[in-house]
Amino acid sequence: MHGRCCVRPVVLVLAVVCAASVVRGQQAAPVAAPAAMPAAAPHAIPFFRPEDPPGRSLDANLFVQTSAEYRACCLQAYNLASLRLAAAVAKSTAPSSTLAVVLDLDETVLDNGAFQSMMIRSRLAYDQRLWDLWEAEHWDKWELVPGAKDFILEATKAGVHVVYVSNRNEKFRPQTKQGLERLGLPLTDEAHLKLASDTSDKTARRAEAEKAHTVVLHVGDNLRDFDEAFRAPKLAADADAAAVAAAIRHRKDAVDRHAKDWGDRWIVIPNPIYGEWMKPLDRGLRDVDQLVPE
Ligand SMILES: [Mg+2]
Repeated sequence: MHGRCCVRPVVLVLAVVCAASVVRGQQAAPVAAPAAMPAAAPHAIPFFRPEDPPGRSLDANLFVQTSAEYRACCLQAYNLASLRLAAAVAKSTAPSSTLAVVLDLDETVLDNGAFQSMMIRSRLAYDQRLWDLWEAEHWDKWELVPGAKDFILEATKAGVHVVYVSNRNEKFRPQTKQGLERLGLPLTDEAHLKLASDTSDKTARRAEAEKAHTVVLHVGDNLRDFDEAFRAPKLAADADAAAVAAAIRHRKDAVDRHAKDWGDRWIVIPNPIYGEWMKPLDRGLRDVDQLVPE
């Protein structure tokens, strides 16, 4: 599905890495900064961090890109969203034009499989600079999460507003709009595209949507698309296994406190590749400590 999209991004990232290395007269390969390197070295190479351990995200990406199960999960989620939407429209005594659905974009509506493939093939961990390039220059390679477009068109046809609350950067608004248009996703009002200016906390942007409309449901792949209660506690880089386990437990407990909301006002799209769930992790092989006891 995404193979045709991968060549140019691979070239792109290698060009970025090689150009930086050539300019600095250093080795042309994606390498991690040595621990002893000063953070503010005057001629520092813009290092890219390798995955740790190498290939750790391969199966998660293969699940999304190749499994029928992932596709079925997405369709299941959007079928449920559709039922909830129809029920809300039927129940509402106000016109459907007062109602709205709020959706995240990445891995909820937009499939960034080509970016993920590029990262894996380049052996790189996530890097904000590469994601910025993806947002700024590769809007023609974004694809659709299964079920998303049909649901959005259905809501629009019913007269319900579709509001996107995304942590894509406000400075790339024109490209984001181009990408939505290319995929046939309606955007009827600039205020319905709420991007990030200075925070990944979506609370204020959700509140804007709720002030303007009666929001009947939210769809997202990251639980912070629904509430900051699901934010992972901050941990020190050298946090021990017990502290990591406590942070993981904290998020699961928050989910249990909202047990009635899942599949009701909150619809979750699976994302095994990245998200808030990984924040306490990403500690290389130390993450093995979080597996259940044998
Ligand atoms: Mg997302």
